[in-house]
Amino acid sequence: MKAAVLEDKMVLTYKDVPTPEPTPGHVRLQVKAISICGSDIKRYVDGHRMYPLILGHESSGIIDRVGSGVSERYIGKHAAIIPLVPCFECEQCRRGYYSACHSYSFIGSRQSGGFAEYVDLPERNVFILPDDLSFEHAALIEPSTVARHMLALGDFKRGQTAVVLGAGSIGLMIVQWLRILGADQIIVTDILEDNLQIASRVGAHVALNPSKVDVIKEVQKLLGDGADLTLEATGVPQVLEQSIFVTRPRGKVVLAGNQPLDKSLHLTFIENMMRREISLIGCFMSYSAPFPGHEWTETLAALSDGSLDMDTLISHRYSLSQAPEVFEKIGTHQLAHQKIILNPEEAV
Ligand SMILES: [Zn+2]
Ligand SMILES: [Zn+2]
Repeated sequence: MKAAVLEDKMVLTYKDVPTPEPTPGHVRLQVKAISICGSDIKRYVDGHRMYPLILGHESSGIIDRVGSGVSERYIGKHAAIIPLVPCFECEQCRRGYYSACHSYSFIGSRQSGGFAEYVDLPERNVFILPDDLSFEHAALIEPSTVARHMLALGDFKRGQTAVVLGAGSIGLMIVQWLRILGADQIIVTDILEDNLQIASRVGAHVALNPSKVDVIKEVQKLLGDGADLTLEATGVPQVLEQSIFVTRPRGKVVLAGNQPLDKSLHLTFIENMMRREISLIGCFMSYSAPFPGHEWTETLAALSDGSLDMDTLISHRYSLSQAPEVFEKIGTHQLAHQKIILNPEEAV
């Protein structure tokens, strides 16, 4: 089969690799649509823990074979990849905190992923879908679950106000979930006007560009002492520092942006957080018990009833064979984009 393989830092190759056969307890997914995640780009640009690796965890398709011990009724079913492979046995797994598993694997990061014509998956790692759901929409389920998980961690309630820092793919999913769950006011920030326009289309009430306005002052004009809940989805240290000042006293800040590990924060951050008695909450992946969690079932429900708009988030479509040039352009900042869909079928 053909696959896009990460062979070294900034080296992605489209090539022939052995077609996987499903092992016992596993199924094989024939991939129909792939979405590129920011973390795939990070693995390409910054380098990764292992080579070679077939990237990709936001993929959907049709189950075409099953390994021994797996019911044949799976064959022909449409499914999306559930990328986290927890052990289901350690202390954190037993608590239902699967992303904190002591010995997890991850499709497309620690084992072969979905940038391929076929991917071998444990039976528990397929999210079965209705036949009439589009494969492109199904490929975007995983990033939606991350946004939904952030709101669950932040204990978001209908009628609350929210600030979303960053309108990249996770930020745009957060905006949609805030709309679906009934936020009273959704304020979003981003330095790219394109992202802000899309945020407004999918539900943001106010879009602020920090390169043009003072975000803290604008939020204070709109919300007084700040939002009930702030969602950080940029991974930029200065933005993280601002998050305290756009959040009301006793409000919550949920963090999902990966911060650069070589930077540091001023400890005034802690001082300001303490004075406002703000809760700072980390977010990692998108899972809860029963596995994979309500984040997944709610995303499917919101896709089925049309409340989650995926089409507006898709900016480009390419064949999988074009993945090397697409990644090169993204890696050298020559392709402004929202969600990019790769199609493995046209690749043949
Ligand atoms: Zn992802
Ligand atoms: Zn575990």
